[in-house]
Amino acid sequence: TTSLPAFGFESTLADQVPGVTVPWQGTHAPDPRVLILNDGLARSLALDPESLATAEGAGVLSGSIPPADTATVAMAYAGHQFGGFQPLLGDGRALLLGELRDDRGRLVDLHLKGSGATPFSRGGDGRAVVAAMLREYLISEAMHALHIPTTRSLAVVTTGEQVVREGGPQPGAVLARVASSHLRVGTFEFAARREGLAQPLADYAIARHYPAFVELPPEDRYLAFFEAVVDAQASLVARWMSVGFVHGVMNTDNTTISGETIDYGPCAFLDAYDPATVFSSIDHGGRYAYGNQPAVLGWNLARFGETLLPLVNSEPNDAISALTAVLDTYGDRYRQHYSAAMAAKLGLGDDAVDAELVDDLHRLLTDHRADWTLTFRALAENLRGNSAPFDSLVPPDASGSWLARWRAAVAVRGEEFSSVADAMDRVNPAYIPRNHLVDAALQAATNGDLGPFERLLEAVTSPFDRRDDRSDYALPAPENFSAGFQTFCG
Ligand code: AMP
Ligand code: MG
Ligand code: MG
Repeated sequence: TTSLPAFGFESTLADQVPGVTVPWQGTHAPDPRVLILNDGLARSLALDPESLATAEGAGVLSGSIPPADTATVAMAYAGHQFGGFQPLLGDGRALLLGELRDDRGRLVDLHLKGSGATPFSRGGDGRAVVAAMLREYLISEAMHALHIPTTRSLAVVTTGEQVVREGGPQPGAVLARVASSHLRVGTFEFAARREGLAQPLADYAIARHYPAFVELPPEDRYLAFFEAVVDAQASLVARWMSVGFVHGVMNTDNTTISGETIDYGPCAFLDAYDPATVFSSIDHGGRYAYGNQPAVLGWNLARFGETLLPLVNSEPNDAISALTAVLDTYGDRYRQHYSAAMAAKLGLGDDAVDAELVDDLHRLLTDHRADWTLTFRALAENLRGNSAPFDSLVPPDASGSWLARWRAAVAVRGEEFSSVADAMDRVNPAYIPRNHLVDAALQAATNGDLGPFERLLEAVTSPFDRRDDRSDYALPAPENFSAGFQTFCG
């Protein structure tokens, strides 16, 4: 049905664990066109960017033309949404096109979002709009550039259709994203409630993500798997916290088994440091506030552990105590990962940092509503002898004793302050997808001008390279923008 070269898709999930998939195809799109394509990512998957950009390529990437070499599927899952269990969610507007090998030989999913209604749509239209899909493209690629595990974005394709949303009709689009898999805690919550599905799913996930455990005897294998996911997710959330990322909808169906960030809906980055920050218009109780993320992840991991109970030990009490013992390590693991990230941000090496020094910095920044991202570049400047940038964030009479303690801790390392400052600039971004910039770029893109989006994408995907021609991108939002800024699920 297409003149594209074959993608070389595999379908290991549908073949090995058919119970979590439903054969399905995308909806016809009247006029699919590639709006933006990630050439480098395409090449790393042995895909040819030029043929992806053709009408046939856009047809496949929108789900409108079925690829020649695979049976596409929608994935089933369950999940806890804002704490309440939903027994059947699933890909309501998404499609797993197939699996590919990346340049390191690892299997990845090529998955579409916005490709039409499925058996899991629950009354939704199965569609997505340009602004929301470009937003995911931009923020996921920014996260990747920040070295944070994440799904990647291969392309956004416009469908030629208008999609009805609250504010009126908007141009429809499909995002093609790449993930090391789309298995989630919610996939396990689905499988655990069906006869004979949990173990094949767990064995598949172990082989795909944690292959070292395949050889372990069953009594150790699933516990080792749980521990590996606990650690991968603890590390992930520590990295979110270190860059001021607020996911916004940390339901268990958005918590991956791989430890990658998934589902860029109402997410946003902090400006001013404040643990109570909530951007999502639907998060009324602040369940997914910035400062709650580590605790909520622990809750999600408990739900994951429950799905493994029958696999870990046929004696329920023994299974509970074994899984609980692993879950109890989560807090320490999180603190270690966060401490290591903060040590690097503060120029204190890569081991750990005095927790009190970090807590006191948090307090100062909260009290003065200091910009989280600018703080660390400003501290590097302070080491270079330029105290003005940090002093403009926190007045010297408030910050003096903290600065003295921090500088003393840096001095203990015995390195030149200037080289410590350079090392800090290699881990602390100058550019993040600031809300006011993202909004302006998406507005322009919806109106047909992709220029601001492309310039912002360029800045946030080389986030550590400060350049004079990009200085606007490093500025905080104008005062009147941030108050009441809200994000939507798109
Ligand atoms: P999310 O909150 O983005 O993780 O989505 C939760 C569930 O809602 C998933 O099962 C999605 O597939 C589904 N969903 C979100 N938007 C739509 C839509 N426009 N049409 C159908 N299903 C949707
Ligand atoms: Mg989701
Ligand atoms: Mg979503």
